[in-house]
Amino acid sequence: MNLNNNSLTIGNMIIVMQKSSTEEQVQRIIRELEEKGLQPQPLIGTERTVIAVIGDERLLDERHFRGLPGVSKVMTVLQPFKLASRDTKHEDTIVNVSGVEIGGKELVVMAGPCSVEGHEQLLETAKAVKAAGAKILRGGAFKPRTSPHSFQGMGEEGLKIMKAVSEEVGIPTVTETLDPRHVELVEKYVDMFQIGARNMQNFELLKEVGKTQTPVLLKRGPSSTIQEFILAAEYIMKEGNLNVVLCERGIKTFETDTRNTLPLATVPLIKEMSHLPIIVDPSHGTGRRSFIKPMSLAGVAAGADGLMIEVHPNPDEAWTDGDQSITPQAFEEIMKAAKPVAGAVDRTL
Ligand code: PEP
Ligand code: MN
Repeated sequence: MNLNNNSLTIGNMIIVMQKSSTEEQVQRIIRELEEKGLQPQPLIGTERTVIAVIGDERLLDERHFRGLPGVSKVMTVLQPFKLASRDTKHEDTIVNVSGVEIGGKELVVMAGPCSVEGHEQLLETAKAVKAAGAKILRGGAFKPRTSPHSFQGMGEEGLKIMKAVSEEVGIPTVTETLDPRHVELVEKYVDMFQIGARNMQNFELLKEVGKTQTPVLLKRGPSSTIQEFILAAEYIMKEGNLNVVLCERGIKTFETDTRNTLPLATVPLIKEMSHLPIIVDPSHGTGRRSFIKPMSLAGVAAGADGLMIEVHPNPDEAWTDGDQSITPQAFEEIMKAAKPVAGAVDRTL
């Protein structure tokens, strides 16, 4: 899909500040843009600041802004996304999830059960994955199930368990939010929102989490292109939340022996196109327990900023996604094996 044809793309203007520009100069531009009814979004890099102009930039007198002190150039971004674009911000973005930095040299592994099933189950898993080196605890309280008759998650009760375990063990949490009406509720209990694959283009949900400053883990839609994936991140960022981490979790292909097809070229591709961090989820990507280790190592080798892995104390008894869940022991082995792979690509784990 070429969004530059036959569709009115507005808001692809950016104002690039000089390296030596001052805070006051940046503030003046922001003020003037706001006075024009535009919505400025500064992207602060270590090299330079770029102000993305959101809104109808036909309201903007380009020459006037070009002449303002501290401005290097006013330019148009050719891609349909700009806040997430590597052209707008060269440096890698680091997203801070309650003290855990995603996108830096150190890889971040998120691990935990597909679904929260109870306090004991989550506590046991959390302790084990933390001891093995996981930095964020995952767990689903609202589950997007294919069948309406399947277990739908523990809901708020599950969120309460997540918060309690997080505090007991000392590990931040990520959980899926399915519904724009739940955003406020979910935000009270966890450190990071997960937007699941099925909701990647639920634009109202994206906008709602975009209005918060809580980090968002955005999973790739099973049938979406990379461009659609980045544009979904752009929806969140446009509302002001720049704390977005992408997650490749596999796509639908003609293959039936694996649950999904896990395309790892997504990682270097996203790294070229965007400054946002990207992690790999080999659990949903393959659907098979025995494939989690090789695909975790491959994800790290491909340059991912982290992994998301489903771990359950007793995978065969898991209420959801047991086939792809691994034991804490298997998780520990993967973490050990991933260390030298991380080292080989100049990362740490
Ligand atoms: C999950 O993380 O449990 C999940 C439902 O993932 P996805 O949205 O990738 O299917
Ligand atoms: Mn799952």
